[in-house]
Amino acid sequence: MKTVDSYNFRGKRALIRVDFNVPLTDDFEITDDSRMTAVLPTIQKVISDGGSVVLMSHLGRPKTGPEDKFSLEHLVSHLAKLTNVPVIFSNDCISGEALTKSRNLEIGSIHLLENLRFYVEETAGDAAFAAKLAKHGDIFINDAFGTAHRAHASTAIVADSFKDKCFGFLMAKEVANAQKLMRNPERPFTSIVGGAKVSDKILIIENLLNVADHIIIGGGMAYTFSVAKGGRIGNSLFEEDRVEKCTEILAKAKEKGVQLHLPADNLCADAFNNDANLRSCNSGDIPEGWMGLDIGEEAIQAFTEVLHKSKTILWNGPMGVFEMSSFENGTKAIAQAVADATRKGAFSLVGGGDSSAAVKKFGFTENVSYVSTGGGALLEFFEGKELPGIVAIEA
Ligand code: AMP
Repeated sequence: MKTVDSYNFRGKRALIRVDFNVPLTDDFEITDDSRMTAVLPTIQKVISDGGSVVLMSHLGRPKTGPEDKFSLEHLVSHLAKLTNVPVIFSNDCISGEALTKSRNLEIGSIHLLENLRFYVEETAGDAAFAAKLAKHGDIFINDAFGTAHRAHASTAIVADSFKDKCFGFLMAKEVANAQKLMRNPERPFTSIVGGAKVSDKILIIENLLNVADHIIIGGGMAYTFSVAKGGRIGNSLFEEDRVEKCTEILAKAKEKGVQLHLPADNLCADAFNNDANLRSCNSGDIPEGWMGLDIGEEAIQAFTEVLHKSKTILWNGPMGVFEMSSFENGTKAIAQAVADATRKGAFSLVGGGDSSAAVKKFGFTENVSYVSTGGGALLEFFEGKELPGIVAIEA
């Protein structure tokens, strides 16, 4: 794998695609800068070699053209503070003025370009737009794993203009960890799949049936499986048009010898509310007027046992509505079990927006092997798809 370690950047301008899509308050305060701190090692490597850095990113989802609330200019002072080097900014990512600034960029400094998505050509993957972006640098580095599943101008197409291109440290780590799981996992390999909807996770479950030994299913999606098995689910989350698919997955798991674990019991509520009345219900036996919002005690125990015996763990999606304290137990207990298994030597990768958020919320970030920064990108990777951002560098 070609990474920034494969190059000496002395006297070179590195054009780096980063993911600076950080959350901002109405007053443009950055509430979580982890996407910025995550790429500091790559920036530092270029600068310490004696090179200069041009950064390009998107921020939010601007509709058409520039909008102040999505301007990357709001990040300039924080970026300067984090990197401790001079940062200049261009309010247009492909203007002649911006290109001149990159051409004259002093060694040891950073040029941040305005939001790429102010041009519709970015998401369209426009080749002429990508070629203009390419003029900003001598070497292209992709360090934006979060957008690696998009064939956008700056994430994939731009790479065609470069002979010299590589992964940044963050992206290299993400790719190496994800590949480790899919290519040669130490067994037993257990995948935990949770979250709200089956429809979002069908492809990943189908692909995991080819590699995992155990698949644990939790969260709202478990109820569509429960219906597929003939159960009553009351008012729990349910996708009628996916019942058949769930039946198919259950049969396929059996055929392939993959153990698919569904929760034996659930914590149910009479309203989608932290203060609702609660009761425990066996799976497949939830009365009308009640909905399952977390896995139950029996399920926690069974899932924990499977995890304790696992050598490789992939976790995507929470076990319940962990945002509300009444329904956080299942997700917390699974985080604990993953942490325990990791301490005993298992390799654990947590990824996909909400499970990463849960691991962070319950303080387990340091107790798992790796927390991925990629939501959609990680999902697509485990769905077995080729990610354009990876292919573009490896080509
Ligand atoms: P996803 O983005 O698909 O991983 O789904 C995450 C969301 O699923 C979280 O916001 C959870 O609150 C929600 N969720 C998990 N379990 C349930 C459930 N049993 N009923 C409704 N929502 C759930």
